[in-house]
Amino acid sequence: MSASPAPILPDAGLAIGAQPFDPAADTEHLLKLAHAMREEERRVLGFPGNLDFSLEDLAPLLGVFFNSVGDPESSDASNVGAKPYEQAVLQFLATTAGADLVDTYGYVASSSSEALLHALAAARRVLPTACVYASDQAHYSIARACELLRMELVTISSLPEGTMDAEDLRIQAFIRRRLKPMVGRGPGAIVVATCGTTMRGAVDDIVALRKAASAAGPVYMHVDAASGGLIAAHSDPAPNWSFAHGADSLNISGHKILGLPVPAGVSLVRRELLPETNAAEYLAATDRTLACSRSGLATLLLWARLRSLGQTGLAALVRRCQDTAAYAAGRLEDAGANPGRFPGSLTVTFDRPPAWMVDKWHLACTGRLAHIVTVGHVTPAAVDELVADLATARRAVAA
Ligand SMILES: *Cc1c(COP(=O)(O)O)cnc(C)c1O
Repeated sequence: MSASPAPILPDAGLAIGAQPFDPAADTEHLLKLAHAMREEERRVLGFPGNLDFSLEDLAPLLGVFFNSVGDPESSDASNVGAKPYEQAVLQFLATTAGADLVDTYGYVASSSSEALLHALAAARRVLPTACVYASDQAHYSIARACELLRMELVTISSLPEGTMDAEDLRIQAFIRRRLKPMVGRGPGAIVVATCGTTMRGAVDDIVALRKAASAAGPVYMHVDAASGGLIAAHSDPAPNWSFAHGADSLNISGHKILGLPVPAGVSLVRRELLPETNAAEYLAATDRTLACSRSGLATLLLWARLRSLGQTGLAALVRRCQDTAAYAAGRLEDAGANPGRFPGSLTVTFDRPPAWMVDKWHLACTGRLAHIVTVGHVTPAAVDELVADLATARRAVAA
């Protein structure tokens, strides 16, 4: 095992003491922090969060307590939530993912990782003895969810482009059926496909994966579309990623290509796969979510973001980001940096540059590979500067 990095100790200057601290001084301090973060934004190239949003006009929302408790579709005794707005968000995203709210249950979670846990708990109820199959490119949240839920995770190898190897899935599913020879149908398989893998932005084909996994019996198909769902929905040709292609559940993050000042995730699950209702008596609500209290503020901001774009605005944003990715791939090719890009993806991988460049441009790296993700705030001009730095780095090596 590799040694964990030393924990960062608390900053003494930030300590919360016995006496109140001057709020005006703290406000000034925090606004400086925000200013510094914004100054740095244009150099944040390696992460999937779009930093180009502007919701400052909604600052007065911070004076109000918005807490959504229980199911978005149930009323609750507190009634301080944002449920009508949440339902509008869910309706839009369910439609985007090829489903509707009559057949699909959804809620706004704190993140995609919470939504993944919610979906895998549903999957375990449907197929209690099935293993979970995810590729070696899958997000680490899946392994953690399996550990928490005590579900056995089988890691499937990936192809060089970053998608799950369907043939390896078929073999592994077949082996597990032989190991657990249940009468009739077999133990089944819970497959977690990824729409937009973390390192390469690859999109798994869930039609092909369902067919391969059926070697274990019945299949539950979850799609981790945290960063790639909204892109896939507006890509041409559209990949096989959604409820329209056979997903049983799906998660999308609100703070990736869309851009939000707070994290948010959406869980969508085929309604017939969830228990009838979980009553939360004290609240006079039903609750099939994972959390009890949920951020109404996050929901309102998500709603405001989606309303300001609409279907056409979102499609235009995706197209602009794809154009920037194509531009970056071309420039990196010219620079001899061996770029790679899954069709339609905003993720462009290339040869890992020296550490000063990784720091300067906030690049994400694994092994010899670095990547950039051309979300909304990433401009062609920033790409040009990155490529100029690559030339500088190369001259330094040659000198
Ligand atoms: C970002 C991401 C996650 C985690 O999502 P959070 O909303 O940050 O919890 C999971 N899977 C993939 C593929 C991601 O890109």
